Amino acid sequence: MDKIIKNPETEEKSKQEKEDSKISRRGFLTGSAAAIGGAALVGTYKDASAYKEFSGWPGRFGCLTDLTACVGCRSCEKACNEANNLPKPDVPFDDSSVFKEMRRPTAHAYTVVNQYKNPKDENKPLYRKVQCNHCNEPACASACPIHAYTKTPEGAVLYNPEKCFGCRYCMIACPFYVPAYDYESALEPKIVKCVMCYARIKTGGIPACADACPVGAITFGKRSELINVARKKIMTNPDRYINHIYGEHEVGGTSWLYISGVPFEHYGFPANLPKKPLIEETKGFLGAVPVVFTVWPALFGTIYASLRHREDMEKQKHGEEEEKK
Ligand code: SF4
Ligand code: SF4
Ligand code: SF4
Repeated sequence: MDKIIKNPETEEKSKQEKEDSKISRRGFLTGSAAAIGGAALVGTYKDASAYKEFSGWPGRFGCLTDLTACVGCRSCEKACNEANNLPKPDVPFDDSSVFKEMRRPTAHAYTVVNQYKNPKDENKPLYRKVQCNHCNEPACASACPIHAYTKTPEGAVLYNPEKCFGCRYCMIACPFYVPAYDYESALEPKIVKCVMCYARIKTGGIPACADACPVGAITFGKRSELINVARKKIMTNPDRYINHIYGEHEVGGTSWLYISGVPFEHYGFPANLPKKPLIEETKGFLGAVPVVFTVWPALFGTIYASLRHREDMEKQKHGEEEEKK
């Protein structure tokens, strides 16, 4: 079983991280105000043909799922549930009746395993674990008017509920239909998705799902090394694998990669995704939707951020007064 385990390289502080640490709630106000001109985003965006392959954070991590190895045991789902303290599911993890329908990650399941028909052998179904692919240049992040998402130097795409105001653009923008909305948190809008076990990988660990897989179908490591591992497997087992690493180039590349014995469409992957990131399309989409869907959420976001800012200032002032007493 390949498990490339390396300590995270955090020295290379990304531009985005620096910017993010600088963003105060006051900063959201200007960010949101800028977002009010939703249509203004369109046309200012750089020409898609100018796109160059993402080269940031060469030491970033990822996971490689070998779809030919997955047996659909759902140990990864269980491990994720436990590692993230999620509520116990209605249907136990060893109940295969869940395979009767295609599932998507939900607020209570950051990952789900689905079953697919095997075009080579109808008696041997295929299985795929679905979760956030941690895109190199995430469409969810580019669609978010108040920058609630961050692509970390470690590779994980993280979401900040403190910033989110619930417009759900990210859900629409994601090409893999990943972000889920937590409807139980209606008053405090919250999007939920796989976090690539960020706390674990930051401290030299590996994602819980990768650790739990009994057949080693998930390999964790540096993305660049995972691509080499995948290439080697394909080259040395041409009868087992098709010559395609899904996620190496799709939508600008993803941190979660896949190899397979059949074309990826059979696993329900979106076919024909462009190589370039969807950022350009996302901006185009924001300009194309009616103004009520662009201006209002942005305006709402501004008010929301403003209220939060005022609330924080009041709390701070109150704390200072208490200290003086
Ligand atoms: S898979 Fe979707 S949610 Fe995950 S980083 Fe990419 S765009 Fe964002
Ligand atoms: S990486 Fe962590 S959060 Fe993501 S699916 Fe695996 S166990 Fe769940
Ligand atoms: S634990 Fe491994 S074999 Fe089992 S469903 Fe998840 S990826 Fe597949």
